[in-house]
Amino acid sequence: MSNTDDSIREIRINPIVPTESVLVATARGMRPKKAEEKADRDTREHVETCPFCRGNEARTPPEISRWPTGADWDVRIVPNLYPVLGDDRAQTNLAFGLQQVIDGYGRHEVIIDNPNHGIALHEMSEQHLSNLFGVYQQRMADLYASDSRLKYVLVFKNFGAAAGASIPHTHSQIIATPVVPENVQNEVQHSRLYQQKYSHCVFCSLLDEALTYEATIYDRDSGEIRRKINVGQYVVERGERFVAIKPFASRFEWEIHILPLQHQSDFLKVTAEDLQDFARVLRRTMHRLDEVVGGVQYNFFLHSVPHGNEYDDCDDSYHWHLEICPRTSIPTGFELGSGLFVSTVSPEQAAEALRDAQIADE
Ligand SMILES: [Zn+2]
Ligand SMILES: [Zn+2]
Ligand SMILES: [Zn+2]
Repeated sequence: MSNTDDSIREIRINPIVPTESVLVATARGMRPKKAEEKADRDTREHVETCPFCRGNEARTPPEISRWPTGADWDVRIVPNLYPVLGDDRAQTNLAFGLQQVIDGYGRHEVIIDNPNHGIALHEMSEQHLSNLFGVYQQRMADLYASDSRLKYVLVFKNFGAAAGASIPHTHSQIIATPVVPENVQNEVQHSRLYQQKYSHCVFCSLLDEALTYEATIYDRDSGEIRRKINVGQYVVERGERFVAIKPFASRFEWEIHILPLQHQSDFLKVTAEDLQDFARVLRRTMHRLDEVVGGVQYNFFLHSVPHGNEYDDCDDSYHWHLEICPRTSIPTGFELGSGLFVSTVSPEQAAEALRDAQIADE
């Protein structure tokens, strides 16, 4: 424990998006949130009736692409059967009084992550994960190139019913939209302001702090230690080119972000060698998460600089990353109504538990 008192109750401001904050309340016996039930994971390798299993390719809408080509594919991309956005309409945007409508134009695709039906991310090989993220990258590039109206291509994954997955076969999704999603927009705007003020990328500053910063904060009146910040306290996993950190203020108790150690704004510029190291850090991070909060349901989101002229100046200020958000508790009315998320595990304890998890050295 890094605190003199063993409980914390404080509101922490998100350093990237200062308009967001989180309440860290770890007092013993305080259970303001209902735990999310762990879902039984379907671990079968092959399911005869599953449209995403190998051999059942005819049961999905016509395929967009597969990698590698041939019957023994590792990753397939298909259109979403129930797209939330589509490219089949030619309506114009509407504005009437305070009601503004942007036509629901866009793309919604499914990426079948692996031919193995029930495999978890940490059970996939590093080579497979590296290829999978390579497939994301290629598809993102193709979508951006296909239509200049598409401002953002979001890659995300829902794993488990609590995280919104409706099909048990492991998969992720791509949504390409004519607007930049609010979460990314907020990060872009605030990191741009930080850059204008300090001539530095806020994500890089955060990494510098996480990797080198050490401090002891004393109480002004009593002189007692209020907090000790140790070097690497928020680091969960470190590779040669990537690092997984537990954010100091995050919406979800076990939320982890993976970022490149060298500044880079655009995921599309990542090299094959980068992806190898990224895959290793991701696999080990997910393995740690599975050890500590077994069978966890989660979402991940890939945040990269949006495309379009108005983002040309963000190359120095924005820093791409992957956000992994485990769903271990059900959001309460207080959280949804206030936007103030409550964390009952301190980020410092979470990082320590994840770091201490014993995983085989593969
Ligand atoms: Zn399947
Ligand atoms: Zn940076
Ligand atoms: Zn982000």
